[in-house]
Amino acid sequence: MHTYHTPLDLVRERSPERPVAFARPDAVAVAARWFQDSFKGDVFYAVKANPSPWVIETLVKTGVNSFDVASIPEIELVAAHAPGARMAFMHPVKSRRAIAEAYHKHGVKTFALDTHEELAKILEATDGADDLTLIVRLAVQTEGASYSLSGKFGVDLHEAPDLLLAARRATQDRMGVSFHVGSQCMRPTAYQAAMAQASRAIVRAGVVVDVVDVGGGFPSIYPGMVPPDMDDYIDSIRRGFAEMVVTEDCELWCEPGRALVAEASSILTKVELRKADALYLNDGSYGSLFDAAHVKWPFPVKLYRGEGDAAREVEGPLKPFRFYGPTCDSMDHMPGPFWLPEDIQEGDYIEIGMLGAYGVAMNTRFNGFGDAETAIVHDAPMASMFGLAGRTIRLPREQQDEERSKVVRLSRPKGRAGKSRRKR
Ligand SMILES: *Cc1c(COP(=O)(O)O)cnc(C)c1O
Repeated sequence: MHTYHTPLDLVRERSPERPVAFARPDAVAVAARWFQDSFKGDVFYAVKANPSPWVIETLVKTGVNSFDVASIPEIELVAAHAPGARMAFMHPVKSRRAIAEAYHKHGVKTFALDTHEELAKILEATDGADDLTLIVRLAVQTEGASYSLSGKFGVDLHEAPDLLLAARRATQDRMGVSFHVGSQCMRPTAYQAAMAQASRAIVRAGVVVDVVDVGGGFPSIYPGMVPPDMDDYIDSIRRGFAEMVVTEDCELWCEPGRALVAEASSILTKVELRKADALYLNDGSYGSLFDAAHVKWPFPVKLYRGEGDAAREVEGPLKPFRFYGPTCDSMDHMPGPFWLPEDIQEGDYIEIGMLGAYGVAMNTRFNGFGDAETAIVHDAPMASMFGLAGRTIRLPREQQDEERSKVVRLSRPKGRAGKSRRKR
């Protein structure tokens, strides 16, 4: 991988014909350090958010050496780039062969489950191992997530006590509970509420749990989606844990995906054609822009124009545009609005920010597109939850006027008074 100081340096040197994904290991390191300093427990990185080797290697260098994996290829990836790392197989539905290979070949001892049938599969495929950590995934009722993750997995709370008891009896080693409040969770109290529900199920089962895993869901910052301070999430989890009926030595785990990597990647795309307010790009929903198309998230953008040393960032005046990707599918459409200079034209480059989570990870080769190279850059991400001044997002003036109500939340007082008011 080549390294450039900034994306503009790459444009100046290369005028790339194909999309370029920018990797910002510095941003992953900042987020990883924040989680290790702030979360009073073990941090497992949810590999599916971004399985790039540079992400895994940066996390290990920064001290995050535990990984939430969901498949044998993810296990092999972690084994290759983080030898000796601890892995937890947190997919509640696994093939028998995957369980056996994870346990016997890769030394994975932690497995999630949400049914009696899966529990039986885990016990059989590991030949009745006595050193398993069995994690029962609960379906909790939550509000405030932008993406629900309780519909597909998790045992119902009224059926949970029976399964908790069965899991407790099945292992001589450790047993625990997990849940997922939903991805991009905008409400910190969702964690405390989920932990209260988990605690009730544990009490009804009459079991002792060794692990409480609060899952992922920690947010990142996007235009129009500015979450509360990350510290508020930690506070909610601390309060939730204090109220749970668990023993002193019960471990607390989390499995962030998005929050560790969202800031760390952006993609450089080229404008192939302009039709009024529609821009036809060389990357789209089958490339890195799945969420821009299917969940209609308006990611932040920057524009570069020109070649060689004359290439520069162009700033305004702006107007809203929508994007089309390169494939022939009419679903390859990103409505935005994306605020860009009104004179944007064919040959300009657009950098789309905040695509480190579920962006570059979603790339397909559909229709012959999607072949992006990766380059390392050292500039700051377009927005951050972990900036020195707290949350920061750079929005152009025109877009701020349009989204005034959302931007106002950014300038809320950050002192103690502001904080305690929010907590009630
Ligand atoms: C996807 C996933 C995560 C990560 O979720 P984020 O919202 O990206 O933090 C964590 N745990 C499990 C079990 C998941 O499926």
